[in-house]
Amino acid sequence: MPSLNRQILIAACLGVLIGWAIGLLPADQDARSGVLYVSTLVGSIFIGMLKMVLVPFMAFVASVTGLPLIFTSIVVGVANLQAHHQVNRVWMTTLVYFVITASLAMLVALIAANIFKPGADLPIALFADAMDAFEARQLTMPEFFLHFFANLFQNPFAAFANGSILAIVVFALFIGIALVAGGERYQGILRLMQEFLELLLQIIGWIMRLAPLGIMALLIRLVAEQDVSLLVTMLGFIVLVFATTLFHGIVILPGILFLVTGKSPLWFWRGSREALITAFATSSSAATLPITLRCTEHNLGVRRSIAGFVLPLGATVNMDGTALYEAAAALFVANLVGIELSFAQQMVVFFTAMIASTGAPGIPSAGMVTMVMVLQAVGLPAEAIAILLPIDRLLDTVRTAVNVEGDMVGSLVVDKLVHRV
Ligand code: ASP
Repeated sequence: MPSLNRQILIAACLGVLIGWAIGLLPADQDARSGVLYVSTLVGSIFIGMLKMVLVPFMAFVASVTGLPLIFTSIVVGVANLQAHHQVNRVWMTTLVYFVITASLAMLVALIAANIFKPGADLPIALFADAMDAFEARQLTMPEFFLHFFANLFQNPFAAFANGSILAIVVFALFIGIALVAGGERYQGILRLMQEFLELLLQIIGWIMRLAPLGIMALLIRLVAEQDVSLLVTMLGFIVLVFATTLFHGIVILPGILFLVTGKSPLWFWRGSREALITAFATSSSAATLPITLRCTEHNLGVRRSIAGFVLPLGATVNMDGTALYEAAAALFVANLVGIELSFAQQMVVFFTAMIASTGAPGIPSAGMVTMVMVLQAVGLPAEAIAILLPIDRLLDTVRTAVNVEGDMVGSLVVDKLVHRV
């Protein structure tokens, strides 16, 4: 039996091949609908299982339903950090890393979009129908801020039930700090949390055995259902987004990793492969989080106290791929409607895309929703989202993989820069 890592790799390749072959069959073919049906079923079961360990769990603790892994790992993470007297350093290093990598990602996007000008030669009438059918979700900058900050603090039970990750992260941080402040008094709770984490990691280990099947199923569907003619029309933009996102994931992030820790990119990819492929197939950093945590700790050897802090936070706020995409897409839309964005306007794109990617939850196509804010910030029509939506499932694959890669590199960087005691 090949290793799990290799099985996942083979399954991903098979998924793309089968999906491509199925896509060639006529739409009313029984074989086609049969395969699509089975892959939808298997794919949903796999994602469902990942969400199962993420969502309703601590039922017996005051009938809480929630995101136990995130909750417990952050709580345990912060509490352990304090034991190391390193909390401030971890916070600062993490935030500085998040800001620097997102800025680099957006710079790459803006430079490439200025050079290649994607969309400048596309006939806009082509998308008139899509524009008509779409009703934009309007969200101005002040509204976004209000929404963002007001939602940070929520009834934890409601946040658990709705899966509002950022609110859970904030609540968990409070618990972690209180645990630390209480010292000896709360040792029992802390130990319980630690045991929960072990328990969940064990369940995740079982789910991982199904990952090859789940990933193959998700990719079959994704590839089979792509509208090829649309892809051809938008080819320039798609290639630009793929190329810049890959550049960030293959050159910039591993470069930072190498500079700070001296670790080679190959070593990193070998250890992170399961998480990156799962992110690619699920398009969700949040659903991938259990696997990200497992790989970072087991394969890359990051301390649990660091991984448990950086990864859950990163899965919700650190999205290099999304930031890059939003910046590139804003320039693409500007080209489509024939507007040349000035340097100052591009700076506005830069800052709003930074905020918008931070506010996007780690679920499929989340970046599309916060993208509206970026477009509106420079007066572009929010309706243009309709043009981007049909190709989003495709672009979301690499974008999410790079989002997750950024979090994993971040935890290695923080692990290196915050000394062991
Ligand atoms: N799907 C992305 C993620 O989960 C978010 C996005 O839509 O950009 O990381």
